[in-house]
Amino acid sequence: MKKPLIGLTPLYDTEQEKLWMRPNYMEAVEAAGGIPLVLPLSKDPADIAALARLCDGFLFTGGPDVHPARFGEETLRFCGAINEQRDNLELALLNEVQTLQKPVLGICRGIQLINVGLGGTLYQDIPAQVEGLPVAHSQQRPYTVPIHTVTVEPNTPLAEIAGPGELLVNSMHHQAIRELAPSLRCAARSKDGLVECVYLPGHPFFLAVQWHPEYLWKEYQVQQKIINRFVDASKT
Ligand code: MN
Repeated sequence: MKKPLIGLTPLYDTEQEKLWMRPNYMEAVEAAGGIPLVLPLSKDPADIAALARLCDGFLFTGGPDVHPARFGEETLRFCGAINEQRDNLELALLNEVQTLQKPVLGICRGIQLINVGLGGTLYQDIPAQVEGLPVAHSQQRPYTVPIHTVTVEPNTPLAEIAGPGELLVNSMHHQAIRELAPSLRCAARSKDGLVECVYLPGHPFFLAVQWHPEYLWKEYQVQQKIINRFVDASKT
């Protein structure tokens, strides 16, 4: 069987004008039987549509904050760096990919971008905007060590992969989903109630996680299974 081609949205350093990729995203896709392909920062809608047709599945990678204007807010003082070029590419790509019903996996910024693209909003900064005692969501290195749990909701695609109950995750985010996009459903929450995993019902495979399975898959079988299911769903 032909290996699926997995399009990875590129990491982009705006200050140094460098397009780059963290190798562990690619290793995780390769280990799952896919061919990772880092996408260009295309601007032309026709080119983005062509990229959407070319690849079999799409990994929306981690990165900087989505511009708050994308969800109708002014930028608050604790919002982090933004990257307009990635916002432009990824929002247009998401639109095309959704129309084509191709498999999607979102990681960290990916879950946030997907939620905004489908009409949801974000906390611009968890410590500044979430009351009570938020779990430590911004961990220090090493990222290969889980630091908090999420509770997997039953009858969700994540429960099919991980089983119901608690799942150990790493956490390198200071933003999170605030209002869930109308079409998305929550599949897991952290102990402080934040949404850590979403899916799109009725789609062949459309899952996004707030943690980073690409740092965990070697040691945690469930995390490997998430990536395997995504790549398997991308086989045509
Ligand atoms: Mn977290």
